[in-house]
Amino acid sequence: MTLPPAPKARLIVGLEIHVQLRTATKLFCGCAVRFGAPPNSLTCPVCLGHPGALPVLNREALRCAAKTAMALGCRILPRTSWDRKSYWYPDLPKNYQISQNEFPVGLEGAVELPRADGSVKTVRIRRVHLEEDAGKSLHDAPDATLVDLNRAGTALLEIVTAPDIASPEEAGDLAREIRRIVRYLGVADADMQKGHMRLEPNVNCAVELDGAEARTPIVEIKNLNSFRALEAAVAFEFERQTAAYLADPAYTLERRGKESRGWDEAALATFVQRRKEEAHEYRCFPDPDLAPYEWIAGELDELARETPELPQARRRRLARELGIGQGDALLIAEDRATGDLFEAAVAAGACPQTLAKHFINLWTRLAKDAGTTIAGLKLDAGALAELARLQTDGAVSATAARLIAEAMARTRAAPRALAQRLGLTRLSDRTALLPLVKEAIAANPKAAAQYRAGGGKAAKSLGFLQGRVMRLSGGRADPAVAAALLREELGPQLG
Ligand SMILES: [Zn+2]
Repeated sequence: MTLPPAPKARLIVGLEIHVQLRTATKLFCGCAVRFGAPPNSLTCPVCLGHPGALPVLNREALRCAAKTAMALGCRILPRTSWDRKSYWYPDLPKNYQISQNEFPVGLEGAVELPRADGSVKTVRIRRVHLEEDAGKSLHDAPDATLVDLNRAGTALLEIVTAPDIASPEEAGDLAREIRRIVRYLGVADADMQKGHMRLEPNVNCAVELDGAEARTPIVEIKNLNSFRALEAAVAFEFERQTAAYLADPAYTLERRGKESRGWDEAALATFVQRRKEEAHEYRCFPDPDLAPYEWIAGELDELARETPELPQARRRRLARELGIGQGDALLIAEDRATGDLFEAAVAAGACPQTLAKHFINLWTRLAKDAGTTIAGLKLDAGALAELARLQTDGAVSATAARLIAEAMARTRAAPRALAQRLGLTRLSDRTALLPLVKEAIAANPKAAAQYRAGGGKAAKSLGFLQGRVMRLSGGRADPAVAAALLREELGPQLG
């Protein structure tokens, strides 16, 4: 019996990313933007949609949007304008949302994602535009849905990618890179927990069966608020859509069009939501209350000058100038302040490779324990450089450097002083190390015998004994001196 040919399925994902901008006030009124204020305390006639109230554009929001669009390599349109997107929702008091349809801030950019193998994946950006956010429906009351309009009218940046994403991991990587970029630019906090960044992937599959390729319906998964949920939801849809098409050949984009689904975090599954509105149902038309904005000469050049070096450029430079690996550079340049700290410590005389190891192995963990970034530990670049130097010069071991780093995070004392105080300076004195070498050999006769017997296991046995000496010395022994003393004490090898 021959089995039918296995279907081949390919994942196609485009991502819509909503980022709440870090502006002091809302997009079209003077209400403050603040998280956690009493419900409906940050509102006015404009954002409550009272008749006759007129919107006034927040120029700072537009500048933030243009900066981001430029950072994403987009073409900035010389004239950008505002449209009303009509729909009714309890948390949208105006019955329309002010957005940008025809003339967004930016078009046609690209983001480069670093891959683990050192190569780069390019994801095209279709558009970057501004829109106002809706309020929030609260479902905590037992028999009512309450509405909080503090968020209504806050500036939301929408970034739309082309469907260039081919795996759940790439979707996560792209979202993480966008978060790094907006944080580098300082235009957004992009705190996922506070809902500053929401992710909506459009997912479908190309399924190849019997030599023909079919496309499954495009499913938009609404309102994901973590990278983990994004990756899980995309992976779930890939499986679900492929299976749905194989069970029913009419489950195609041509026949079914687009769908909206929600994500159930507890069930780790998507579920059916309202049918996705077709574009014409929004009845988009230019907002008569808002004039289009035309950039003034020199304004965009000024924004470009304010733009710092971006994460990908920094990673490349760290790799090229300092010989830092791609994976390490990703972590070191994760946030701008940590990248700055790293470079300041290199400038203060740290060996870049040792310092990179400290960032990856020591400081990342200590920062995580403290619930902050490495820069958030508020340690001095000179102190980080001194610790790296102590290790490169051989004055302390890697183990000792870890203990000193922990003490630095606690006490903020200088590394050299800590090394002395904690008795962590390296032991390379033969007389001091000899008793420890003898003790290690006496306690491990089997390893000693294996070394003396020579052959394949000899090197491993010596390494094991060396590890014992390191442990007996509390990590202070100079490994080279310890190995030399062990060889002398163990005597000649057979074979
Ligand atoms: Zn307002």
